Amino acid sequence: MARTRRADYQRSNRIRTLPLDDPEAAAVAASRVLRARDATDRQRLGTELLALLAAQAGTGVPELVVPDEHQPHRRSGGRIVYSLQGDYRRRAPSPADPRVARGGRPLGRIRVLNRTPARGDLVRPTAFLNTLLHEFCHHYDVERLGILHSFHTSGFHARLRHLRDQIEAGRGDGLDEAADPGRAGNSRRAGRTIDPLRPRRVAGAPAPPADEPAPAAVRALPLLERLWSIILAR
Ligand SMILES: [Zn+2]
Repeated sequence: MARTRRADYQRSNRIRTLPLDDPEAAAVAASRVLRARDATDRQRLGTELLALLAAQAGTGVPELVVPDEHQPHRRSGGRIVYSLQGDYRRRAPSPADPRVARGGRPLGRIRVLNRTPARGDLVRPTAFLNTLLHEFCHHYDVERLGILHSFHTSGFHARLRHLRDQIEAGRGDGLDEAADPGRAGNSRRAGRTIDPLRPRRVAGAPAPPADEPAPAAVRALPLLERLWSIILAR
């Protein structure tokens, strides 16, 4: 059966959970990520968390890179209208072993920027962790659910919520501001969520193609404001 974007969208909407075998272990690893600040520590501890999540969720371990760089962003009228907090990409499978990319590298690669777009402050811990978990959900979509076009459907957000809820329950506290009193207040500066696979209407942009599912479910869940770039190189 030909795989279509619509089929991926509908499958993504149907599946609401992302069960972990051992949420407590994931919670411990997530707490370490929340305590990290510099890019090197966040990359190392984030990789440990991803390895745990991958083992528990039945995926390969994605690579994580944490550039110590400002989030790429765009300004309009002097204001930042969106920024890229993170992204998920797929490498082409190796001809010799399609389970990995050339050189044995992981097929999935997550990137989370470590600095805010304008001032270059450190991204606050909860925002960093939320972006990491969000990108892991894209990885889960592709590797576990076979959803090649990983849309921001209501099902996607339900899976992300389920993942977060399990980790929060394992921590015994929240992943929100209580754990992060040093919030820098940067989260509202990015104004739009744009996903190349999920065309959305922005000022002056053409309407999405008629065969695209309505993005209302996506709009209803503005989890974090960010620009998502998902490129699934097949
Ligand atoms: Zn996304």
